[in-house]
Amino acid sequence: MAEIITPDTRKLLGETLGQLKGEVTLMLFTKKGVNDPFNEFSDKFIREISSVSSRIRHEFHSIGDEASKKFSVERSPTLLISPETYHLRYTGAPLGEEGRSLIIAIMMVSLGQTIMSDDSRKRLDRLKVRRHVRVFVSPTCPYCPQQALYALSAAVYRKDLVSAEIIEIYQNQDLAEQEGAMSVPTTYVDETHTSSGLEPEENFMESLIEGRPVRYVMPAGMEDKRDYDLVILGGGPAGLTAAMYAERSGLRSIVFERANIGGQITITPVVENYPGIQRIAGKTLVDMLARQTLEYAPVLQGVSVDAISVQGRKGFEVRTSRGIYHARGIIIATGAEHRRLNIPGEARLAGRGVSYCATCDGFLFREGKKVVVIGGGNSALTDALYLDSLGAQVTILHRKDAFRAQARLQDALKQRNIPVLWNSSAMEILGDKKVESLKIENLTSGTKEEREANGVFIAIGYDPVNAIAGKLGLRLSKEGYVIADDRQRTSMPFVYAAGDVTGGIKQITVAVGQGSVASLSAFEDLSSPYWKKTTTSPLNP
Ligand code: NAP
Repeated sequence: MAEIITPDTRKLLGETLGQLKGEVTLMLFTKKGVNDPFNEFSDKFIREISSVSSRIRHEFHSIGDEASKKFSVERSPTLLISPETYHLRYTGAPLGEEGRSLIIAIMMVSLGQTIMSDDSRKRLDRLKVRRHVRVFVSPTCPYCPQQALYALSAAVYRKDLVSAEIIEIYQNQDLAEQEGAMSVPTTYVDETHTSSGLEPEENFMESLIEGRPVRYVMPAGMEDKRDYDLVILGGGPAGLTAAMYAERSGLRSIVFERANIGGQITITPVVENYPGIQRIAGKTLVDMLARQTLEYAPVLQGVSVDAISVQGRKGFEVRTSRGIYHARGIIIATGAEHRRLNIPGEARLAGRGVSYCATCDGFLFREGKKVVVIGGGNSALTDALYLDSLGAQVTILHRKDAFRAQARLQDALKQRNIPVLWNSSAMEILGDKKVESLKIENLTSGTKEEREANGVFIAIGYDPVNAIAGKLGLRLSKEGYVIADDRQRTSMPFVYAAGDVTGGIKQITVAVGQGSVASLSAFEDLSSPYWKKTTTSPLNP
């Protein structure tokens, strides 16, 4: 097997792990004949990580030996981190995205510090009972490492009461199926399913403490008032670029992202049309963009903005799940969220074979599983090609007789011989505990059929995330997009909008362009530079 850690990564890792203080033990347990390729990967990966720092020890054990009995290890491979002190377990090799969470877990154990917020520490101080938290993950899921790190941080901070287990679903399909964890990340606290998807940090901690799903957490930092020039809602390409441009113009800015930084590109398997970069995984592009932005401005992930009120000349009061902030201007870059079909079975089987994220959940449908991708745009075709490359048996279902997706994607679909059911509509998704079939109607002939399917990937476009814009009273189009002029000014003074929430052409390049324009307009309006004496907008004359 070739080196897992490339020379460049090794250099970076050397710098990171050079900060280690206390010794960390990585204990790998394997059983020959069970998940062999993953056992070999784990063995090699751990040797390579250990070779970077003298503070990391490794031990290799067979399942059935004394150590495995002592730590109750039964699955191969299993990795424990310093198990004499902590309860941190990877069930399955820490592949792909989880490699990152493992490195951070090693850092936390060695330094005895966690990466969680002060707010989470205060919450966890209340914990009085033992908790075992399990997070089901997949190697390609961009949301997973963050959810895994909440669990691992909690188990480092409350090593007396919390144990964390990160379970890779592909190597542990039986466990995933048993729990019905068909989408990732899925989290259980003890035996209770607490969430599907990445949660805000405070929700995760409260669910852990309560042992039940907690969806709304009272802001703990009400006293944490902070003043900014600009509050930016949304950490996608538009919001991140806006923050960078704002700070470079001298406007103090902060970005609040309620879900995952990067927005939709995070779940785009490949981006091939970002100028200067021939081909890049969406998640990698996001990481680059986020790293660059973080050099300028704070980007808070998992923070939702609940309300914004206008405070006359004082600007805006922004109520968030992390307390109240004040700003002189607002940029709305909240993007769009995937559209639902609203057919029977869709909601009931969501996370049980119904998915809106091929990058996250596709892994489960490798090796010939039957999947139907619904839609005819760029997303549906990108998802279909990705699932096909994983080895799934893909069929596309589209309500028209032609695609609106780019010709290049259509050509690739033809080359791979991916079948298309034209002029067809999904009527119902069927299955008991997971998706088993799909009821389809041919819209031309009116005939109906039931088609066997293990997975249904819905990629039928997006609707704008406009709740806050609507509450603020901004002018919206009839489809609900925020109306902005060519300088990204909205109908309300000092409020700007950028990216997919404004509708129009939904491309990353357009979003970053609009993000920069929004901030430069805010600079003109808020800083009144001498060379711009007046600013007018057709929307806001
Ligand atoms: P989209 O372009 O809006 O396409 C949505 C597709 O779903 C259309 O084919 C539409 O059918 C179908 N659809 C909509 N509602 C439906 C319903 N209720 N039932 C069945 N089918 C339905 O959405 P998208 O593909 O998610 O793309 C969103 C935006 O992101 C687009 O602007 C796209 O260009 C961009 N994007 C770009 C790239 C890229 O540049 N590589 C990649 C991904 C996404 P009709 O055609 O009949 O309306």
